[in-house]
Amino acid sequence: MTVIPTAATPHPAPVITHAEEDHPAYLWRDGHILPWADANVHASSLGWSTMAAVFEGIKAYANPHTGVQWGWQFAEHYQRFAQSMRLQRMRPEFTPVELADISRELLRANGHTGDTYIRPLAWLSDVTWFTDGESSRTSIVIITEPFSSHLRTGRTVKSCISTWIRVGDNQLSPRVKCISNYQNSRLALIEAKRNGFDQPILLNQAGKVTEGPASCLFLVRDGVMITPSLTSGVLESITRTALIRLCREELGLTVQERDVDRTELYVADEIFFCGTGAEMLPVSSIDHFQVGDGGVGPLTSRLEKVFHDVVRGIHPGYSNWRTPVSHA
Ligand code: PMP
Repeated sequence: MTVIPTAATPHPAPVITHAEEDHPAYLWRDGHILPWADANVHASSLGWSTMAAVFEGIKAYANPHTGVQWGWQFAEHYQRFAQSMRLQRMRPEFTPVELADISRELLRANGHTGDTYIRPLAWLSDVTWFTDGESSRTSIVIITEPFSSHLRTGRTVKSCISTWIRVGDNQLSPRVKCISNYQNSRLALIEAKRNGFDQPILLNQAGKVTEGPASCLFLVRDGVMITPSLTSGVLESITRTALIRLCREELGLTVQERDVDRTELYVADEIFFCGTGAEMLPVSSIDHFQVGDGGVGPLTSRLEKVFHDVVRGIHPGYSNWRTPVSHA
């Protein structure tokens, strides 16, 4: 590559490289497993992770007893990915089933046998400036990366109500897992952290509770599990749906999906965030109101154990949520 120095940039642009151990050997893009360094995007490609770009966060969990790695709810995640692309009027060349197969192939290629994060992203690859992008090709990349689960570690977070309002369905719909929506999340997270909290909770235009910047929310009141409804301005979280079922079937709890007032959080017995990245993340306090005894609440703890055992295939039930990844 020849770099022509200019007055404004007298030195050649720095070449940014990653240490070998910082990234996996391969990623998948548009039909090919590529060496990490070869997966370049042109600098003019504005569609790359901006505006319309949509993504997913998916996990694979290893069973510590058998060593089997289980893809967790691949079908549900790639269905939602397809839904996000549809709502952006993208025309993907790969089906959810193909993308799930590809994810397993990539996990094998990278030798990721432990707990692994899988991050697909779709973008309008012909877009170089603002446009409707409807005639653009849709590119898809999938990246895998090991992660450390905090399930059952006792970790808790301090939360607050954000002054930022959650984007609404007629603005940037929270139902679409679109990169642009996360500017709303990011502003709330920055504010919360600068004010000494870990995770904000955003309200919607009507002042009702929605979710965290990248996770849904449950609260417990008098033994009843409550979560904001899917029309309150939340992502259609796959973890939320799984936990509702586990609460009912494994713990015999009543679950309510409904509008939630802010002050219900201040009097809740237990609160936790949930999501693929968040897993289950108990809240120790909200706006300086201690939640329960400030630790992991009793129902949260029981649910966390069930969830932990199901995702790792220690609990044999719910097998249609898990797909084994063969590394033989
Ligand atoms: N809400 C938002 C805004 C998120 O980014 C996420 C993470 N995907 C969630 C909720 C939780 O969704 P899921 O359980 O499908 O990961």
